[in-house]
Amino acid sequence: MLYTSPALETLIERLSGLPTIGRKTAQRLALFLLKQPNEYVQGLAMSIGELKQRVRTCSVCANITEDDPCPICRNSKRDRSIICVVEEPNDVLVIERTNEFKGLYHVLGGSLSPLEGIGPEDLKIRELLMRLSPDTGEPVKEIILAMDPNVEGEATTLYLAKLLRPIVDRVSRIARGIPIGSDLEYADDATLSRALEGRTTM
Ligand SMILES: [Zn+2]
Repeated sequence: MLYTSPALETLIERLSGLPTIGRKTAQRLALFLLKQPNEYVQGLAMSIGELKQRVRTCSVCANITEDDPCPICRNSKRDRSIICVVEEPNDVLVIERTNEFKGLYHVLGGSLSPLEGIGPEDLKIRELLMRLSPDTGEPVKEIILAMDPNVEGEATTLYLAKLLRPIVDRVSRIARGIPIGSDLEYADDATLSRALEGRTTM
């Protein structure tokens, strides 16, 4: 069914392009918004607009930030000799929550997936190698690989380990124990803490 308002139809079409939102949910959301006060709807529209204006990626670690470099990269109390490599910005949040890790991060922006046509050049691997070059400040002594426990994560872990072992003293991976096939973000804090602590050298 098409609504008689083109504005409503356009919104429904745009909303249904969002992940996990089908046409039905998009309709429900659009009709919900229609019933809300002006300030609410305008506030929401403004937040969406500001998202692209203010949020950028850190030029060092590729994490999401409003200031470049990000607060973690800028923090002088963090251990600069150890970098934890993760797939997505969300993984940084999850690991930070455990309070277990005091080093720096590197966000790849995904994982290797030949099926989806995602190769090494599509991830921030070159940027990671640049951080490890001997003439960029304090030397990095350890890289922790903390990929999602699934096929793509495993492929990425093996690829990076092979690439990094000749360059870095220690390449480690977080211990298993996180349910296979899942996302890092679904691991509870205690499990993730144990996985970090029990990391193994590759
Ligand atoms: Zn950063």
